Amino acid sequence: MNIHEYQGKALLKEFGAPVSRGVAIFKAEEAEAAANELGGPLWVVKSQIHAGGRGKGKFKEAAAGEKGGVRLARSVDEVKQFAREMLGNTLVTAQTGPEGKQVNRLYIEDGSDIEKEFYLSALVDRSTGFVAFVVSTEGGMDIEEVAHRTPEKILTLTVDPVTGPMPHHGRSVAKALGLSGDLAKQAATLIGQLYTLFVEKDVEMLEINPLIVTKDGRLRCLDAKVSFDSNAMFRHPEVAELRDLTEEDDKEIEASKYDLAYIALDGTIGCMVNGAGLAMATLDIIKLYGEEPANFLDVGGGASEEKVTAAFKIITADPNVKGILVNIFGGIMKCDVIARGVIAAVKAVGLQVPLVVRLEGTNVEEGKEIIRSSGLNVIPADDLDDAAQKIVAAVRGG
Ligand code: GDP
Ligand code: MG
Repeated sequence: MNIHEYQGKALLKEFGAPVSRGVAIFKAEEAEAAANELGGPLWVVKSQIHAGGRGKGKFKEAAAGEKGGVRLARSVDEVKQFAREMLGNTLVTAQTGPEGKQVNRLYIEDGSDIEKEFYLSALVDRSTGFVAFVVSTEGGMDIEEVAHRTPEKILTLTVDPVTGPMPHHGRSVAKALGLSGDLAKQAATLIGQLYTLFVEKDVEMLEINPLIVTKDGRLRCLDAKVSFDSNAMFRHPEVAELRDLTEEDDKEIEASKYDLAYIALDGTIGCMVNGAGLAMATLDIIKLYGEEPANFLDVGGGASEEKVTAAFKIITADPNVKGILVNIFGGIMKCDVIARGVIAAVKAVGLQVPLVVRLEGTNVEEGKEIIRSSGLNVIPADDLDDAAQKIVAAVRGG
């Protein structure tokens, strides 16, 4: 689960980490009071969307002006103007996709005078199971690019959960960033604060890009991207409350109500599969035959007819879907349940696109019979290969 930058910074502050003062606003009329409260002389007006690269982003609407999604303002009037231009408009960044994201919230910050920009992040290192910190002197830039071109400029440190961060972690980070004296101490303190936040709140990823040194010699977290382990949200109702549904895919929200593992993708073939492994294999084989899947969907082992119906409705609600592939290997899941779910859903929502069904396993004959006798125009398939070829041919109109 992701949250907005301003919410992430409030959490950082709660754990003692240094952030700028700021005020979040939802309406352009709130900009003046926010700017006055912060005082100036420099403000930063920041679009709050769940995507990075905002500074270099561009708005779709001409009325939003030429500048990006993060703007420096030097007067209250400029803050007001930027707020009017940005709110309600669509920001396109390297991470939003070409359709962009609507900016519904802004964060107005007290502007910092930047001496240096660094990169700092924390995540779970899957090979060791430890929290890992990643630091680099190349801040404010695309870290994937840095990793690709100059991997020697990136330092990764893991923290043993038994000891937590040790003084040597702080020293290594300070050394990697070229910090000494008081700044080195600030870096060590920050590592400790971020580690506590990470563990206590079940964070999945925390990225500060850039972490800056101000002209007056202070470290400060200038950007904050925080995402949490969704499976742990029941332990943190105060974090779960920060969820912004407008940032999420409608189909994924609907799927989460039925506890379906659904992820929207941008292809044309809707997929209903049981088991994550089989679902991944299905996506692969669709691509192998030259088309793109519209979604990942694992209906799970013990899915009910109601769940299957819900899944089918979600798939057909996607306007990009030009064909549907149902691929079920009935182990715990029974083929007749799937068949009944599909028929119920088709009767409820209609079937405007070709449907290929491949059933195998428990109660397969019963399942096939249900589909045959339904009178629906379903294309049966024998195995995964056959199914993928048939649905690809069908969406291509063949
Ligand atoms: P992102 O583009 O989505 O990663 O948004 P950031 O929060 O990282 O902001 C983009 C860039 O704006 C930063 O890398 C900084 O160079 C600049 N910026 C952000 N806040 C300030 C500030 O307080 N003062 C100055 N001078 N620049 C800032
Ligand atoms: Mg950034």
